[in-house]
Amino acid sequence: MNKDMIIDADVCEKLEGWDEEDVGKIIPLRITANGTYRNEMIVEVFCQFCGAEFIGPSREAGGFIGGHECLHAWQVRKDLGREDGLVE
Ligand SMILES: [Zn+2]
Repeated sequence: MNKDMIIDADVCEKLEGWDEEDVGKIIPLRITANGTYRNEMIVEVFCQFCGAEFIGPSREAGGFIGGHECLHAWQVRKDLGREDGLVE
């Protein structure tokens, strides 16, 4: 870990409602029901399949990407199943 990078990054005090201006900032501390997150960066990501966009903490961005990938993979499998009778 490069600690200088974390210290130099802008700090975001918001715990919700992030927007484009917050991208790249660090949330020093975020406590949720799932755990305590420290020094987490706010990122902007999008789904390459459907174009949905997300701005928020890295952890949630990963969940967004993974969730969309799972959903669209399921949709593709379902369509293949309908046309070819193939179900993986
Ligand atoms: Zn999507």
